[in-house]
Amino acid sequence: MFSKYLIDYKDYLPEKDSAYLKDIAEFASQALPEIASLFENATTPVSWYKQLAKMGMVGSTLPKCIGGQEKSYLFYGLICQELEKIDSSLRTFVSVQSSLCMYCIHRYGSLKQQDYWLKAIASGEMMGCFGLTEPESGSDPAGMQTTATKVAGGWHLTGHKTWISLANLADFGLIWAKTTEGIACFLVELNQSNIAKKVIQQKGSLRAINTGELIFNNCFIADDAQLPGTQAGLKTALACLNQARFGIAFGAMGSAQACFEIALDYCKKRKQFNRPLASFQLIQKELVDCYNEITKAQCLHLELAKSMDNGTINPAMISLAKRNACHAALKIARKTRALMGANGIDFNYHVMRHLTNLETVATYEGTENVHTLIVGNFLTGENAFT
Ligand SMILES: Cc1cc2nc3c(=O)[nH]c(=O)nc-3n(C[C@H](O)[C@H](O)[C@H](O)COP(=O)(O)OP(=O)(O)OC[C@H]3O[C@@H](n4cnc5c(N)ncnc54)[C@H](O)[C@@H]3O)c2cc1C
Repeated sequence: MFSKYLIDYKDYLPEKDSAYLKDIAEFASQALPEIASLFENATTPVSWYKQLAKMGMVGSTLPKCIGGQEKSYLFYGLICQELEKIDSSLRTFVSVQSSLCMYCIHRYGSLKQQDYWLKAIASGEMMGCFGLTEPESGSDPAGMQTTATKVAGGWHLTGHKTWISLANLADFGLIWAKTTEGIACFLVELNQSNIAKKVIQQKGSLRAINTGELIFNNCFIADDAQLPGTQAGLKTALACLNQARFGIAFGAMGSAQACFEIALDYCKKRKQFNRPLASFQLIQKELVDCYNEITKAQCLHLELAKSMDNGTINPAMISLAKRNACHAALKIARKTRALMGANGIDFNYHVMRHLTNLETVATYEGTENVHTLIVGNFLTGENAFT
């Protein structure tokens, strides 16, 4: 699975992890024959997702005592890459559970919340979602309108979250809301009658995972639903997003690699003008351009993972990698789609599905513009958001 590329990640992993990653890649590739029809029918394969958790792919970097695997960030990134070679929805599931839910509860939750939820999420028994985006606030989460108002013994939650991955299937949501003290996060069990849920039905992207809306109508939640560490405000949400963005950078390159490998194989086999497409210089240039971008991203990701693992990461570097990977992966998906002519738009060849998924991957967890401004702020010291 590694041999085609100049960078062989195997060289950077302990032997045991390399073998484990191979098992994950095998599991993911078994999903491939079914994924096109799940995508077309907008079906979320919940049993696969539970299986991913059972295989230890949720919370892999976290301590064993809370259900994690104590694996390196490089290993986590490579899980994301292998899953997204099949479909971005598989990686999205792992990102939401590991980086957005488990990381948030582990870092900012009370001991009681950690004890109750973390192992259950890691094992796939419970599923969470992360509710930050609202109809009127996406790139600017500080503009959120959801409020948590203090009442005796708890809070009243009122507001509308939208574009939330797994909103309609999750057992609980980490819901970000404004209090009189600032923005904080609340762990809300979602099986309550004053929470309305809607599925976003007509998505043209990421169709093998549910996305939905959550509407809270004066919903009572107990005092201990608040994650105490998130009283520090929006920066705690951004810390969780950064964890997810790390995995997304690796994942986007997984999609890109899948598109590249499919197109390379296609161009070797497909003949026009009595010669394989791969023998034409213009075709070779397109393939080399794709390979070039993949190789550059792989080098960047090795450095990124190293900094995550030794605790020296600068968030601007995560933004740079997410921005680069999504931009390059979209270009690769478009190029490879074109290399395959009409067959490129046939879902049976997978490239078109990756291309449409990547439109979401480039949008969520910060668009290209947002990451440009984060890196711009790092370089110039000027904050272009305010
Ligand atoms: C399938 C899917 C799943 C998702 N899952 C989740 C989830 O689980 N949880 C969650 O909370 N959210 C989720 N999201 C929401 C996602 O994070 C937002 O869509 C994203 O943050 C962008 O916000 P927006 O769509 O409101 O776009 P907007 O913020 O309205 O942006 C629209 C355009 O304006 C540009 N723009 C905005 N501000 C600036 C600026 N200052 N300078 C230059 N350009 C700017 C943006 O780059 C973009 O191109 C999901 C989205 C999708 C599509």
